[in-house]
Amino acid sequence: MVSLSFSRKFIIQYWVVLAQLVLIALPSVSAPVVKVTDLAGAPVTGLPFMNRGDVRIIPLSMLGKFAGFEISVDRGKYLVESYDCQTTLSPKNSFAEVNGAFVQLPVPVEVWDGSLWIPLQQLPELFPTTVELGDSEDYIRLLGIVDSASGVVTPLQHSKPLEQVWTFGKVILDPGHGGKDPGCKGLLELEEKFIVLDIAKRTETALKSKGIPVVMTRRDDKFLTLGERTRQANAESGDLFISLHCNHFTDPDVGGAECYILKPARTERAIDVAARENQVVDFERDAEQYDALTEENYILLSMATSQYLHDSETWAEIVIDELKNSAGMNVRGVDQAGFYVLMGASMPAILLECGYLSNPDDARMLGAERGRQRIADAIAMSIVKMKSEMEAAAR
Ligand SMILES: [Zn+2]
Repeated sequence: MVSLSFSRKFIIQYWVVLAQLVLIALPSVSAPVVKVTDLAGAPVTGLPFMNRGDVRIIPLSMLGKFAGFEISVDRGKYLVESYDCQTTLSPKNSFAEVNGAFVQLPVPVEVWDGSLWIPLQQLPELFPTTVELGDSEDYIRLLGIVDSASGVVTPLQHSKPLEQVWTFGKVILDPGHGGKDPGCKGLLELEEKFIVLDIAKRTETALKSKGIPVVMTRRDDKFLTLGERTRQANAESGDLFISLHCNHFTDPDVGGAECYILKPARTERAIDVAARENQVVDFERDAEQYDALTEENYILLSMATSQYLHDSETWAEIVIDELKNSAGMNVRGVDQAGFYVLMGASMPAILLECGYLSNPDDARMLGAERGRQRIADAIAMSIVKMKSEMEAAAR
């Protein structure tokens, strides 16, 4: 009898424990939630999230209810007024506008179950005056104090300084081509992919000696898709992006360095150069994504760079000037064309053709270590000058 009652008690306890475990486990299985606190750490609410690949998305309206957002919809666009900040989001679009500047999102904003869902990780960029995020996206902190009656968080006066002094961060060096994509080849044994990697490494050394941080999209003979290059640049929050290439032409008399910015091409030749550098798309497995590059998409993508267009143009002029006067190189000047690699870079971006491998003068320079060093020094100097220009403009 004793043993029976013991085992019955044990079974009951077992079921109670099991039921508790199920109850504890249930919310995290069916509806994962990220916790929301106020500035002091007091709990405000929990927000459901969904996963899109590695990216967590949360419902804007629920966040807005507690953060005190005013949300209106105008011709399909969601306008969010938060404390001293206006954010515009559009369904199926992976660019948002925050106080007139563009923010690139890892996934497009989507409408689901009647609400607009936005990436959790970008909340501090989308609502810089009202939202902070825990280190591992485990909580959202609203920059204000929760009102116990309404549950809404009232923003603190200047809880975050709005006028932060901008300082230059880092430059992204993008040696073109790599791996199965050799680029072009001319009078030299060396292919374009090796020449531009060497120039990039020399530029990096020159910049680091001047205390300017550098991120390279590749540092060995590796294939990268065009999208991977700008995604890396944006993820690193670069302040300048330069893609390095060499040119090729059937007429060996054609030579000289030229620098391109992203804008619809004006000349047949610029279209040809863009078409050749864009050929890397053929090596990419999901090349279909580029077929979707309709004029509308093009405008959308170049919009993200258009606010940097002025700086891109200035930089292009400076680098050509440096190559001509400091490196003593033949130059052709600045032109514009639709380069895939420059699309989607949320920073001033240029593509430099460091001369023609089919031209004897250029090939002599590009084939010699001394020549490549002079080109690298000229590029580094253009970046030093751009940094000063940008910092002066920010003051
Ligand atoms: Zn190239």
